[in-house]
Amino acid sequence: MSEAPIELLPPDISPYRHSASGVDYVHVLDSGRPGPTVMVQALTHGNELCGALALDWLFQQGMGRSLQPLQGRLILSFANVAAFERFDPADPNASRCVDEDLNRVWADAVLFGPRDSLELRRARQLQPFVDAADYLFDIHSMQDACRPLMVCGLLDKGADFACRLGMPGDLLIDTGHPSGLRMRDRGGFGDPASARNALLIECGQHWERSAVEVAIDGLLRFLRLTGMVDAAWAEARLRLPLPALQHRIRVNQAVTALSSDFHFLFPVRGLDVIARAGTPYAQDGETIFSTEFDNTVLVMPSMKHGLPGNTMVRLGRFES
Ligand SMILES: [Zn+2]
Repeated sequence: MSEAPIELLPPDISPYRHSASGVDYVHVLDSGRPGPTVMVQALTHGNELCGALALDWLFQQGMGRSLQPLQGRLILSFANVAAFERFDPADPNASRCVDEDLNRVWADAVLFGPRDSLELRRARQLQPFVDAADYLFDIHSMQDACRPLMVCGLLDKGADFACRLGMPGDLLIDTGHPSGLRMRDRGGFGDPASARNALLIECGQHWERSAVEVAIDGLLRFLRLTGMVDAAWAEARLRLPLPALQHRIRVNQAVTALSSDFHFLFPVRGLDVIARAGTPYAQDGETIFSTEFDNTVLVMPSMKHGLPGNTMVRLGRFES
């Protein structure tokens, strides 16, 4: 598979290292007024540049200096900086993480357990901020080309939140990750009885310029929705129209590789729909994978060669 062209360069985030929060690259802006604690995170994965570019843009608008949150507290976090600092345009996928995926370590048993890794150390620094947040916006991008989508978690309250945000058009309600709890599913975010809520936005392909536009637009809408910024201030800076419709996609199956031979039987792209049940779509050795229901949505199919046990695609269906 040919790699996508790299249209983005990593921003210089070194000005954001020092902060009064006590943790490098985590800024807590306190309005001094009552209100929610709102957190925006970039670089959960070190090679996903659009979130870092969006936060850099927000700081350049004066956030934290001339511009302060209108209520409550706003936490702005660059997460896996150690991985980001290893970004190499010649090998852009290498900087996703250093030791392990930062977005799979958020269960208490892992976070407060005996295991050690660079990502776990960073997660342990970030945990008090994540657990203080009433609302979380976690900005990501995708390995393969796909229109933007929102990972709303396992609960309808996440998709309801994305509907209030108004974008993007495709809202994923999924089953989480068997390999470990995501930040967006931790604690109250994953509890239907809690008012806390989190969104994880996938803004597009890692290296495409339009991912930054989606990230900034999503950030602006999120800050406006949570009352952090003035509505007119945000409106003046929006750059993309809202989708005419938002669809919920309920993911109900993960397809894992049996060997490194897993491959799709025809070219596929994220959010492609296979109309008919019983359609063969992938093969792995002797095993043929066929759709089990009509209008199967392919969620983030991986074009990379998998290892046994790797998730190669998730399958879902549109709900509305
Ligand atoms: Zn990511």
